[in-house]
Amino acid sequence: MSVKENLLKIKNEIKEACIACGRNPEEVKLVAVSKFHPATSVEQAIEAGHFLFGENRVQEAKEKFSVISEKYPACDLHIIGSLQRNKVKDAVKICSCIQSVDRIELLEEIEKQCSKIDKKIDVLFEVHTGEESKSGFEDFISLYQALEKCAAGEFPHINPKGFMTMAPFTEDKQLIAKSFSTLRTYAEELKKEFTEFDLSELSMGMSGDFKIAIREGSTMVRVGTSIFGERQY
Ligand SMILES: *Cc1c(COP(=O)(O)O)cnc(C)c1O
Repeated sequence: MSVKENLLKIKNEIKEACIACGRNPEEVKLVAVSKFHPATSVEQAIEAGHFLFGENRVQEAKEKFSVISEKYPACDLHIIGSLQRNKVKDAVKICSCIQSVDRIELLEEIEKQCSKIDKKIDVLFEVHTGEESKSGFEDFISLYQALEKCAAGEFPHINPKGFMTMAPFTEDKQLIAKSFSTLRTYAEELKKEFTEFDLSELSMGMSGDFKIAIREGSTMVRVGTSIFGERQY
């Protein structure tokens, strides 16, 4: 099937998953994850009316999206992969949101680079909620401390928008659901503590588990394979 057909299918499945659990389909955004797929695939998605994309690696994203963003100014890119400090400079130039903020050091670097180009950027805090994923804040305390620094005004160019996680790679749906509900529980607590921010985004769910994620409150699903096909590594 074409990218266009896949997009239609996924959007329909998102809608049905929302309706099945009594949620408004407009609460769930779709991030089309185009990593390892060429710019032509991204253009096919754009031609089909989809504008929000996710990429893991800054270098790849920069090469792919510099041309695309010129051609389609409405195109919006999120960085979703773990980020080395020395990649932040390029990352903040090409994206509107970094979903994979997993340590305070990264907030400091994002602030530094954004202040240089006078840009305000959205961030999500990545949380380690399952056994197999490697990155992310490990617990509530460390998340709290990161948000405390934001609330103290240390990062005026950073706009905290919510949280992101990856479920463990398993067939066990209960384990997956547990990982997502952990993120939601943290988010609910932190929203109460930090009312100065709109921490409403919960980025969770990929091709294999986005329906579970929607049931658990996801507001943003990150789907690659089901839109663009298998990745050629
Ligand atoms: C690759 C990736 C996705 C998309 O995964 P699919 O299984 O291809 O849908 C989502 N989130 C992150 C962080 C990824 O690295």
